[in-house]
Amino acid sequence: MRVLIFLFLALSLSFAQLRVVATYPWIGDLVKRIGKDRVDVFILAKPTEDPHFVVPKPSFIARLRSADLLVIQGASLEVGFVPVLLQQSNNPKIQPGREGFLDLSGFVRLIEKPQSVSRAMGDVHPEGNPHYNLDPHNIPILARAIKEKLCSLDRSGCASYEENLRVFEREWSDRLREWDRRLSVLRGQKVVSYHMLYDYLLLRYGAQLVGTIEPLPGIPPTPRHTQELVGLVRSQGVRLILQDVYHEKRTAQYIASQTGARVVELPHDGYNLVELFNTISIKLEEALR
Ligand SMILES: [Zn+2]
Repeated sequence: MRVLIFLFLALSLSFAQLRVVATYPWIGDLVKRIGKDRVDVFILAKPTEDPHFVVPKPSFIARLRSADLLVIQGASLEVGFVPVLLQQSNNPKIQPGREGFLDLSGFVRLIEKPQSVSRAMGDVHPEGNPHYNLDPHNIPILARAIKEKLCSLDRSGCASYEENLRVFEREWSDRLREWDRRLSVLRGQKVVSYHMLYDYLLLRYGAQLVGTIEPLPGIPPTPRHTQELVGLVRSQGVRLILQDVYHEKRTAQYIASQTGARVVELPHDGYNLVELFNTISIKLEEALR
């Protein structure tokens, strides 16, 4: 018994955990699934928070100061809080372009890149739509990018990361079959959403976004725009209004009350990626069946 305890202690102390900061819960979950016990993950945003406007806390700076790796969603989604935190962290290892920095947006093809960026366009998506994580088919690509980064920072753990990735990819492809089946209800649907949050999901499953409750990304609705949407929902035969968890809900409910379209409130993030896509796919299947 004593020998076993000694062995356990020796094994658990034989490597130092990588200290990772993830900006969003879904990223933190993915890092944990690949890094397992070799990583210590701290997550900045809450899954119920507006991802464009995360409120920084003093604890964030302390965590960034001692971090080995910062993983971000990128495409300017974190531009309102990460640059200032990075500066205050005074940690050269995790600055953009350094070994301890990973921007996941570099591994997927961004959609909706604006031709030119101006205030008139709204100003929250200057590099294209950053919400690529809501297409479940993108997740394995990002898991692989995380594995590569963990391997480069911790060579002795690379075999574990490779194995964890293989297990993850197998589980994910089984889940994808189920999600693809449920989300096939989206094909051919015309949809209105509050923000351009689910565009990658709608594109993947063949639905069309015909309008947003925000007149422009990041700009709140006006009575006139809302009235125009009521007309659009009626004329286009929209059955579904996608509402996120962090915006006001009155406008969506008003449009639904005037048209008979259905409001579905969907999460955009979560501490468990499998549960996130389970919830999204079940809610959409129920709404459109
Ligand atoms: Zn956005």
